[in-house]
Amino acid sequence: MQGIFQSLNRVLLLACLFAAPHRASADAYIEPDPQLGFSSEEFAQRGREAFQQKLAVLAARGQLGCTTQYCTGVREIFARIVAAARTQGDKAATTRWELVITTAPDEDASAFASGQILVSSTFLQQHGLTQSEIAYVLAHEVSHILLEHARAYATVALALMPHKVRHSLSDVYAEIDFDLGFALQLAPFDMDAEFEADEAGLILGAMAGYQPREMLPLFTKLEGESTGGVLPSHGSPAERLKRAEATLPLAERIYGRYAGDGSGAADGGDAADARDIGHAMSPLRAATRRR
Ligand SMILES: [Zn+2]
Repeated sequence: MQGIFQSLNRVLLLACLFAAPHRASADAYIEPDPQLGFSSEEFAQRGREAFQQKLAVLAARGQLGCTTQYCTGVREIFARIVAAARTQGDKAATTRWELVITTAPDEDASAFASGQILVSSTFLQQHGLTQSEIAYVLAHEVSHILLEHARAYATVALALMPHKVRHSLSDVYAEIDFDLGFALQLAPFDMDAEFEADEAGLILGAMAGYQPREMLPLFTKLEGESTGGVLPSHGSPAERLKRAEATLPLAERIYGRYAGDGSGAADGGDAADARDIGHAMSPLRAATRRR
């Protein structure tokens, strides 16, 4: 069974890092590690292929589209999240963001490196998610793409591969797919990426005008959900909530500035944000630099 927000193809999503303290623009908080291996284009191409394959499967099953009361609302929320995402660097500004809604009961939400987000309206309905909670789900997935987590995961894998010859991206994926021990070795980095997507998602949701505290009840609603099998990737909802709460002060400052109540303006603004985001940098980023 797929875990919550689990990817269709793990190597194509993953990865969540935080922006480096030196940001490209004043409000770019969520940017990929500049030292990642391979190229963005390789992952975008693989993402497009995986997305088309997924679309074909869902179309054949008659599971594309939306049949719940959520349909219009989800698209409006996605538009707000994308508008915030586009401010996060040049690549984010030019990404062709796309939302696809499915009725598939065995899907939840997933992201493709090429800019597509797939979400199941059945999943949203089953959990009775509010607008803010849906925003968080979508912001989490968009953050995976902003932070190039598929690329970060492959970069870590490359660093850990046993033979220090030049490996192609296909070599790395073959090693992950066919060597369970290697995949298990990578699992902690996978989970780091998920925690970072949670943190980045909270910030992105705040930038889109969603009150951070109103996003967090999502985790309570997910209690009892499967978080994956042999390679659980997202951590327990309780652990995710605890970590997200630690990001609340930063997210609320950002929300204050973006929502216009002025609460973020009196606390040092950018300097304080840069400090806190720097503290939030993950072990995953350190791992990508071992190569
Ligand atoms: Zn995720």
